[in-house]
Amino acid sequence: MSKEHLEKNVHPLRVIPLGGLGEIGMNMMAFEYEGSVVLVDAGLMFPENDMFGVDIVIPDFSFLLDPNKHVLGVFLTHGHEDHIGAVPYLLREMNVPIYGTPLTLGFLADKFKEHRSEFLREEDGSPITPRLITVKPREPIFVGPFCIEPISVTHSISDSVAYAITTPVGAVIHTGDFKIDPEPVGGSYFDVERFKAYGEKGVLALLSDSTNAEREGHTGSESRVGENFETLFAEAEGRIIVATFSSNIHRIDQIAQIASRLGRKVFLSGKSIIGNVKIARELGYLSFPLDQIAPLEELSRTPDREVVLITTGSQGEPMSALYRMATDDHKQIQVKPGDTVILSARVIPGNEEDISRVINHLFRKGAVVLHEKIARVHVSGHASREEQRKIIEWVRPEFFIPVHGEYRQLVSHAALAAKAGIDPRHILVVEDGEEILLRPGRCEKGNSIPARRIYIDGKGIGDVEQTVLKDRRHLGSDGVIVVTVAVDREGRKVRSGPTLLSRGFTGNDIELPLWEEMEISLQTLLREVETDPTWGDHFAADLQQGIETRIKQTLKKIISKKMNRYPMIIPNVIVI
Ligand SMILES: [Zn+2]
Ligand SMILES: [Zn+2]
Repeated sequence: MSKEHLEKNVHPLRVIPLGGLGEIGMNMMAFEYEGSVVLVDAGLMFPENDMFGVDIVIPDFSFLLDPNKHVLGVFLTHGHEDHIGAVPYLLREMNVPIYGTPLTLGFLADKFKEHRSEFLREEDGSPITPRLITVKPREPIFVGPFCIEPISVTHSISDSVAYAITTPVGAVIHTGDFKIDPEPVGGSYFDVERFKAYGEKGVLALLSDSTNAEREGHTGSESRVGENFETLFAEAEGRIIVATFSSNIHRIDQIAQIASRLGRKVFLSGKSIIGNVKIARELGYLSFPLDQIAPLEELSRTPDREVVLITTGSQGEPMSALYRMATDDHKQIQVKPGDTVILSARVIPGNEEDISRVINHLFRKGAVVLHEKIARVHVSGHASREEQRKIIEWVRPEFFIPVHGEYRQLVSHAALAAKAGIDPRHILVVEDGEEILLRPGRCEKGNSIPARRIYIDGKGIGDVEQTVLKDRRHLGSDGVIVVTVAVDREGRKVRSGPTLLSRGFTGNDIELPLWEEMEISLQTLLREVETDPTWGDHFAADLQQGIETRIKQTLKKIISKKMNRYPMIIPNVIVI
């Protein structure tokens, strides 16, 4: 047999992005070899501004439910919601083992409480107990045809790993979220040696974090934030309030340690901060003394100079502890003159308005407010271009697939890989649902799978359909118009109406002629119904439905033409 013929018969490794490519959030990547599947991460996405009333968004798992596919495990890279948040929903569909480092699994297990009743059922009817399997860097796990080694990386959460997945056609490395922190805190480290070792052996494909692909240079170390805090804390006369992400255990640990050195007590506010600190402490990820955390009740009795309060709300969320403190809506804490408030987090795109609003409130209360734009109180957890380049140079993969990013970031990262020496034909920019088939020396696009998003509303009960979302969008931006008319079935005479009522629609206030035009058109329409005995014959027997459809069409046409608006139109035709 020729070499070429042999290669043709080699089964490919299928790389299938189910989420996170082409958007920030809901990361999920499937690797499939002859029907055996491992997943890297199962995350959620917080809704974009046009997703009214949607709480979270998760990837569509239906592709994994095919009986010819055997999902052998989910390998979690770290404990951020965009990597673990969809796991409870996955466990409604399948009882799959979940692998992760201790802190990642600790954060995950904490979420199970509220989801357990929805999990898949055992034969006796009780919900399954998830199988959580702890992994350690440099200790490979064997599942089906795969050997999977966790590699320690640094990121904005402790206990983050990349995965090197050795398959029958070669090794692939998925970096997870990372930066290369030269001076990490809290025992984290970036294992350069393992990346280099895989590079020496040969790597079929590298999938690497693209978040900061548009940012030149190096991201900078978490330790720098600590140093800046040390100076800021020493200068502050009054209370210090720091808002950060509750998962940023490094940051919380640094704040508490500095507070301890400066003789300040630490107070925690916000359910998720208290919960995560408890988990991290139990698992040994926090180094400050426990007695340094004081209960909130003691706050009023503690001199201002001895207070550091760590809280949530760095994104200006209106229900968050910080927002409530800034608007006198918090039971124990009100922001006052002399307070220094530090927003120690990045501004997530889309949250600018909310953040600005909370900053304004804080200033109104007389506080000094420090944030990313004016002080070095935050550093990103993602690699900038120089770090991204280093990984590529260490691993020297045959194929390169940028992951974790919006399309523009994926493209930027691809360009960087080409500069770093990867053959441009071996760089694959793909989005959710676009399958890639990899064999040594060869790659091709596979079948596309439907990469739908699943919208979760309220407490996760009942998914939101696209149509519901469309309705909410219409209501939110353009308002609603209700038309009521009563028609006599026998004589087809209009008995009352039409009456037009609107809410949130600007047309009736500022464009009176438009309102008049709508009324006239409706009357014309109804006159046709009254006078033309064949009217509505093509609507089958349903006169009511026929009139409602025509009312919608008539108004939509006028409003879209005159105002370029699309309010929701609700015709209410009563046939008596
Ligand atoms: Zn992350
Ligand atoms: Zn992420």
